[in-house]
This record gives sequence, structure tokens and C-alpha cells, in this order.
Amino acid sequence: MKRALISDLHANLEATEAVLADVRQQGLTDIYCLGDIVGYGPNPRECIDLVIQHCQVCLLGNHDQGALFDPDGFNSVAERAIFWTRQQLEESVGGRDSVAKRWDFLGELPRTYKDGDYLYVHGSPRRPLSEYVFPEDIYNPRKMENLFALVPKYCFQGHTHVPGVFTEGQRFLAPEEINFAYQLCDEKVMVNVGSVGQPRDCDPRACYVVQDDGWVRFRRVEYDVEKTIHKIYATPELDDSLGDRLREGH
Ligand code: ZN
Repeated sequence: MKRALISDLHANLEATEAVLADVRQQGLTDIYCLGDIVGYGPNPRECIDLVIQHCQVCLLGNHDQGALFDPDGFNSVAERAIFWTRQQLEESVGGRDSVAKRWDFLGELPRTYKDGDYLYVHGSPRRPLSEYVFPEDIYNPRKMENLFALVPKYCFQGHTHVPGVFTEGQRFLAPEEINFAYQLCDEKVMVNVGSVGQPRDCDPRACYVVQDDGWVRFRRVEYDVEKTIHKIYATPELDDSLGDRLREGH
């Protein structure tokens, strides 16, 4: 079983296209998206269309939900981006059919997906849409125990935009510490697949994961960051800081 896991595209078309090209280059056709197709970035329609076209499974992210319903719990920069995103999705680029198709697609996204030993969520196994699991949570054994109790064996998630492997033995392994590969074994793990469109681990390259039989491989893909930043700067509703953070990868 070989599968590409992408998450947190955040309407970054250049990053999404670069990742899909990298996925294709490796002969992978099975692609799962763990949510947050939209929010923050300048190309929500295009990114939704690419996910509809290429992904077999897609989960609902908190920003996708924010675009669908009233956004709740977002800071003002994120909230403005969500309202702008909603406007973009209402515009009939590609015809009224495309507008309805995108809304229907978002509206029907599931919150979790389970395939045998593997569970896929956006945030956490406890609160799939909204809960963050950060590297420093390994120092909160109660939280980790509660989360691992809900993991069948392996859980894949996004949401924090920080890639890495959480082990049941309460370790966090950053990709560069493990040479970008982790072999699944009997120990339960939660794997954060990182973010395609807005990495926050100080590496501006797009991030995703290849699930390859017993292995998890982290991939980093360069893309035209400045092009995306330019589009963000040119959109008043998208705060400039959303562009700046792409350059820094933070
Ligand atoms: Zn996100």
C-alpha cells in the first residue's frame, strides 16, 4: 500500500501544484487530504478543484468549516481571510455549476476516515476538527494518554503545520532527527504530515508524507514562494503577514 498524505493546503496553489507533481513523479495515485484546503491563501477555488480531481479521501478542516459556517475561534487575520474565502467561493468563476460543486464538496466532507489500523483526522483523534497536538504536548502525559487511547494503531493528522512523529512512549521525533523516515512498528504513533501551503517548522518548503507499506516518509518540496506572497500582498483582505510567514516557514 502506497499513499500520499497531504494536509493544510490553505489555498496555496503554487505549493499544491508542486506537491502534486512530486506525488506523480513517485508514481503515487492514491492521495488523501487531511483538511484545510482553504483559508489564509489566495487560491481557494483552484485548490478545491485540484483536491476534487486528485484525492480519493478528503477530510473537513477547521478553516473549511469556517468558510461553510460562521467562523468560530479564529483570530482577526484568519477570520478576515475566511470571509474573503467565502466571497471567492460565491463568485461564479467556471459557471454556477462549479460554485455549487465546490460548496457541495466542502459540505459533505467527513471529519475522520478509518482504514483498518489507520485513522486519519485533521486535528486529533479526540476532537478531529479543532484540537491541536503540538510537539510540547509530550510533556502533558494525561493529554497524550487520552489521545492514544483513541488511536487504533496509527493516526495521521495535520492542523499544527508542524510535521513529526508522536510515539506512545511520549517522544516527539522531528523529521530531520529521523532522516525523514519512520518505520511503523508495534508501538502506537500519531504522525503529523505537516502543511503543504503554510509550513510552520521554519522550513518554507511544502511538506507532505508518503505512507509506503510499513514506512512513513516525509517529503519537502520547493515551490515559487514569492509568487504566492505576491498574490497575498495584492489582496487587501489577506494580511501581509500571511505572505511573510510563507517566506520564513513559520
Ligand atoms: Zn491549517
